[in-house]
Amino acid sequence: MPVGTPEGKKEQKFFIGERGSSHLDGEYITYFGVYTKKQRGENVTRKIKIVDTTLRDGEQTAGVVFANSEKLRIAKMLDAIGVDQIEAGIPVMGGDEKKAIKDIVDAGLRASIMGWNRAVIDDIKHSLDCGVDAVAISISTSDIHIQHKLRSTREKVIEAMCQACEFAKKHNLYVSVNAEDASRTDPEFLLRFARAAKEAGADRLRFCDTVGIMDPFSTYERIKWLIEEVKIDVEMHMHNDFGMATANTLAGLKAGATYAGVTVIGLGERAGNAALEEVVMALKYLWNIDLNFRTEMFRELAEYVSMAARRELPAWKAIVGSNMFAHESGIHADGALKDPRTYEVIAPEEVGLQRQIVIGKHSGTAALKAKFAEYGVHLEDKDAVALLERVRALAVELKRPLFDKELVHLYDEYLEEQKRKAVS
Ligand SMILES: [Zn+2]
Repeated sequence: MPVGTPEGKKEQKFFIGERGSSHLDGEYITYFGVYTKKQRGENVTRKIKIVDTTLRDGEQTAGVVFANSEKLRIAKMLDAIGVDQIEAGIPVMGGDEKKAIKDIVDAGLRASIMGWNRAVIDDIKHSLDCGVDAVAISISTSDIHIQHKLRSTREKVIEAMCQACEFAKKHNLYVSVNAEDASRTDPEFLLRFARAAKEAGADRLRFCDTVGIMDPFSTYERIKWLIEEVKIDVEMHMHNDFGMATANTLAGLKAGATYAGVTVIGLGERAGNAALEEVVMALKYLWNIDLNFRTEMFRELAEYVSMAARRELPAWKAIVGSNMFAHESGIHADGALKDPRTYEVIAPEEVGLQRQIVIGKHSGTAALKAKFAEYGVHLEDKDAVALLERVRALAVELKRPLFDKELVHLYDEYLEEQKRKAVS
């Protein structure tokens, strides 16, 4: 492991005091949201619900397969963290998939458990078999999908959706009607579809940016218009092809959507979905909307999902990457040591991470002195300067930060030289 200060020493006194705040050496530290209540827009005061589809859309990622035991464990973690609804899988796939969904239903979680279905009554019968309380009924609404994938017509799409929706409502299921490829759907047809869904009893409409082509501005306009026209609850289901899934999800919420569809670490087809941890933390810190999630479990959940999915968890992943609270640059490390708020807007403990002061090419004397203080070694300024030169040279040679033992070795070497100089 590269050198890190975190546990143990000074930084360990840095713990969560209450949500959004921390203590450091007895000093009370509050982390600020970026906007005040007024600035964030009064229209985002209603209850926002988080729908996680790691087990459905996440598993749909090319090459990802979860074992049933992994699915159950992920569902339990999502529930413990605070997710409102878990899209657990696709019952009509039968076999193992159906068993996994049943196991999740039988786990007696607090969250609503949703099964994913095509707009086909037989699919919904499989969902009923699993005992889920909610269903997603999905059908494409864009002409490109209707003509080239479904080889159908707009009329038949509405008819199939209504029949499936009415069947599900007859069986007391909560229904999300999914407009697949909504972002490329003729807006007027989307309105017709949404109105028909509402009339058929749908509880909400899932707006799917299936190919990830929206930006926050177009999203805001489209969703605002849709909600004003149809007056139905809307869920944002945004893909990340242009890196805007989280931003688009927030734009939709700002426009009046009430549900955010997400996956852990954004796991999903191609570039993935909006990430659970990004949406929840952005709501909390950028908009001051605290959904009361157990966010300190985010890192653990991210690690588990990436392990189960056999997908790397990049060090630079927003919110949960190992680099989020690692400081190497002299100016940054010095600032973070004096007051973490200089370079951090959330406390590491709040997402299950720890602060790390990394000693390497960009380190300064303050970080070096803090590092050696952990070993009970007080470095004089002139020694810190001399040692830093060697640290930098070695880090450049190795093209990485240094391990503790390498630092100790450099220090011993330096002391030896000083002794020899003194003798000669
Ligand atoms: Zn999707």
